[in-house]
Amino acid sequence: MREEEAQAELAGMLVSLKDQLLWNREKGRPLPFVCHRNQTPAERRVEPQAAAPRPGPGEGSLNLEAVRENLGDCRRCSLAALRKNLVFGEGNPQAALVFVGEAPGAEEDREGRPFVGSAGQLLTKIIGAMGLEREDVYICNILKCRPPDNRDPEPQEIRACEPYLIKQLQAIGPQVICALGTFAAKTLLKKDVPITALRGRFHSYEGIKVMPTYHPAYLLRNPAAKKLVWEDVQMIMKELAREGG
Ligand code: SF4
Repeated sequence: MREEEAQAELAGMLVSLKDQLLWNREKGRPLPFVCHRNQTPAERRVEPQAAAPRPGPGEGSLNLEAVRENLGDCRRCSLAALRKNLVFGEGNPQAALVFVGEAPGAEEDREGRPFVGSAGQLLTKIIGAMGLEREDVYICNILKCRPPDNRDPEPQEIRACEPYLIKQLQAIGPQVICALGTFAAKTLLKKDVPITALRGRFHSYEGIKVMPTYHPAYLLRNPAAKKLVWEDVQMIMKELAREGG
C-alpha cells in the first residue's frame, strides 16, 4: 500500500471511529473503552442495555441530509482525487426498497447521480416493471466515487466508504434491500460467496431483508440472466406487498 493510501485509510478509520462514538452517544450506549481510573466502582458499573429497536422508515434521528453533510467533500480514500462528482444516492428518503450497487461509472461521475448510464437505464426499466418509479425507491452504491476505468473496488476503499452506506440505510429504514452484483452483496452480507450462490433467496442485514441479484451491467453483457433477475424482483414485490410497502 502506498504511503498516501495508508494515510487516507487511517484518516478514514479515525473519522469512522468518531462517527461511531457520536452515534453511541446519541443512542445513549456505553463507551466501553472510556478510562475509568477516576470513577468509583458504582460509577464504573454499566447497566446492561436492551438492544435498541431499529427505527422504522423515517423514524430514525439520522436523516439523509445529515449523512450527506457529514460526508462533506470526502477525502477518506484515494478515489477522491480522481472524481468529478461524489455520487451520494437519490430517491425517496423513506423508501421501502433500496437498491445498492457497486460504484459510480463514467456517466454517474459526470452527473453526480447514481445509475444514469446504460446500466442505470436498465435498472430504471426493472423498477418500472415492478410498477414503481425511480422516485419511489432509493438508489445508491457501496462507493460514492468512481474507481478508475471502472475497476473493482479495493478493500480499503470499501472500508472507508461503507460507514456512510450504513448511515444511509439507518436513515431510510427500508423493508427490503436489493444488492446489485457481487460487491454489494458481499459487502452487505459479509460473505465471500459468488452472486450466483447468493441470489434467489432472502438474506438478512441488520434485520432488513436483502435480495442479492445480478448487476444491470452484467445483464447488458448476459441478457439471458434477465429471467433470473425477474425471478428475484418478483420475490421482492411479494415481500413488499406482504409488508404493505
Ligand atoms: S469513495 Fe467514499 S470514502 Fe472514498 S473519497 Fe469517495 S466518498 Fe470518500
